[in-house]
Amino acid sequence: MTGIAAHGAWCNARTFPTICSHCKEEVFYFSCDCGSRVFFEELGVPWTRHECLGYKIATFGKAVVEEALALGMALPGYSKKGNEIEREYAEKVRKQREADKKKVRETVRMTAPPYASTQSDIGRVSELIPTVDVFKRAGLPSETQIAHALLHQLTKEPMGQITLLIDDISDNDKESYTCFIASNLLRKSGVIQSDIAEFTLRSLNVPILGDIWICEKLSSPLG
Ligand SMILES: [Zn+2]
Ligand SMILES: [Zn+2]
Repeated sequence: MTGIAAHGAWCNARTFPTICSHCKEEVFYFSCDCGSRVFFEELGVPWTRHECLGYKIATFGKAVVEEALALGMALPGYSKKGNEIEREYAEKVRKQREADKKKVRETVRMTAPPYASTQSDIGRVSELIPTVDVFKRAGLPSETQIAHALLHQLTKEPMGQITLLIDDISDNDKESYTCFIASNLLRKSGVIQSDIAEFTLRSLNVPILGDIWICEKLSSPLG
């Protein structure tokens, strides 16, 4: 680690509580501008990585994982680098985590701005609807041409809806984005409810519905 500073506020370190989609254990997803992307078992030293057997088996195959375990080797995909976290940062998230148990931080709903804008971030999928009836949402009959014209962008392909909660423990509040997403993009991403996902949203003005977010990119951070 010589010459490499520990990760912290300086490199935009962020920590998100979530549930591992493979083993359903509580884990913490950590990311920073150095490119760190890792699931930790718990907050604080020694910052143990979540070495999830379910994930390893799904990724590397049962035979490889069993062989590594039998030989007492590190599991495939294991990396020692990047686990150094600044003490101040660790202390901040630990304190906030304790505080969260007593009083939930405020959630701010992020509405789409009335101008062209994109927003990229990391969040947990707190709500997921595979398909929504956009005509019904707009209170329009689906068979008319005018309804199709008005909702143009949203009627080209089946749409779903997701809510992304940016629950970064090192932040003072949580932000939530509710957006439309092409059902196809949602399915292809493989992202399911409660997953941590990287996303890009675009603001769009739609007659009747007003300013909305539409999801353009969605992916699991570890692929
Ligand atoms: Zn960093
Ligand atoms: Zn797991």
